[in-house]
Amino acid sequence: MSKTLQTLRGMHDVLPAQTLSWSRLESLLAHTARRYGYQEIRMPLVEHTALFTRGIGEVTDIVEKEMYSFADRNGDALTLRPEGTASCVRACLEHGLIHNQQRKLWYIGPMFRHERPQKGRYRQFHQFGVEAFGVNGAELDVELMLMAARIWQQLGITEVELQINTLGSAAARSAHRAVLIAYLQAHREALDDEARARLETNPLRILDSKNPAVQAIVAHAPALADYLDEADRDNFAEVQALLTAAGIPFVVNPRLVRGLDYYNRTVFEWVTHSLGAQGTLCAGGRYDGLVSQLGGKATPAAGFALGLERLIELLAQPDNDTTADIYVLWSEPASKAAALNAADALRDALPSQRVHCALDGGGLKNQHRRADRSGALFALRIEPPEPATPDAPPRWAIKALRDEPTSVIIPSAALSPDEAIAWLIKALGTTATAPT
Ligand code: ATP
Ligand code: MG
Repeated sequence: MSKTLQTLRGMHDVLPAQTLSWSRLESLLAHTARRYGYQEIRMPLVEHTALFTRGIGEVTDIVEKEMYSFADRNGDALTLRPEGTASCVRACLEHGLIHNQQRKLWYIGPMFRHERPQKGRYRQFHQFGVEAFGVNGAELDVELMLMAARIWQQLGITEVELQINTLGSAAARSAHRAVLIAYLQAHREALDDEARARLETNPLRILDSKNPAVQAIVAHAPALADYLDEADRDNFAEVQALLTAAGIPFVVNPRLVRGLDYYNRTVFEWVTHSLGAQGTLCAGGRYDGLVSQLGGKATPAAGFALGLERLIELLAQPDNDTTADIYVLWSEPASKAAALNAADALRDALPSQRVHCALDGGGLKNQHRRADRSGALFALRIEPPEPATPDAPPRWAIKALRDEPTSVIIPSAALSPDEAIAWLIKALGTTATAPT
């Protein structure tokens, strides 16, 4: 017997018990983005590797060790997208979407990173991302945070903290970089291998180290905040003032740096303590340099991405995995066509209800058992025509399968289709399950 094949490590099926949570979350996110004036964009899953090395930065975790890269049959260097921002900018430039105009875009879909799989960290995961182009003001940064806050509020997520920081301008970062390297060099022996490797290439990333020994050194490192110019400082002060005015609590985390090189000025993360180590639900910020870095005209931009797996995990509502609200039964082969038609008539009349027709028929007792298992509230039985009056109008008998609908009185006799439908509309109006 051949061995059965399984999914790749870190890549997961979303099974029927979970798909409803996923699609509800996806439509909530899409709807929210729309309410803020964002339009959907869909980019390919595969891009030229150069897009990410140029966009995200050569010396980042993602580009150095996490990308799924391969040579196409014709030798092109390709990569499964590890994030959406670079692809989104590429698409905007390719199609002239941000030429002399403001543009707000959102997307949702799978991203790929070859990381060590663990709870909240997978090799194929899903992000919802929003990107806004052509806006300079701090009000955009804050509007993005407001949108995320609205998402948490709609999902009933309360245990979440907003952390913000500013990375200043490129000039401020390079002045700070020089003194940071000198300081870290002086404490070289106390750093770990990863930090030592980052020393010359990407020292800012060392500030983000999770290693307590490195954190102890970093705690006394020269702060980027001391190298900001006046415009950067004013900008960050305005972000904070606008957040305060909007009633959004936040903390300034001077060690928040982000793992992608394109960020400048405002960066932010929404973090929860309810998920253990992988607590960042959403991360974003400003990236005013990326559009020109990818070949476009200098264009201010900002956005965020949130991870769907971590949200699903946080919401973790067990799905009620029923499949029907009304179950149509039939007892004789002669009623088969009537049953199919009845089920379709019910779908017409009750568009938000799930109607299941007893396929493969079988004995009525058997059908009742299946109806019960489906979770349906009502069974509707097609009465067989009387042999004496084969052309008499059809009659449907209704039976309650659950105790819950106490407010309704089940008709004792079979009804005409019109009466039955009218009765069901009324009954399900008061006991209807949530439409899907
Ligand atoms: P981390 O520091 O956790 O590695 P990151 O800086 O790499 O995060 P981003 O690239 O900013 O994360 O991604 C934004 C969001 O996407 C994260 O906050 C998280 O919710 C989600 N995310 C990132 N990588 C993964 C992954 N491998 N598996 C699941 N979700 C992820
Ligand atoms: Mg990462």
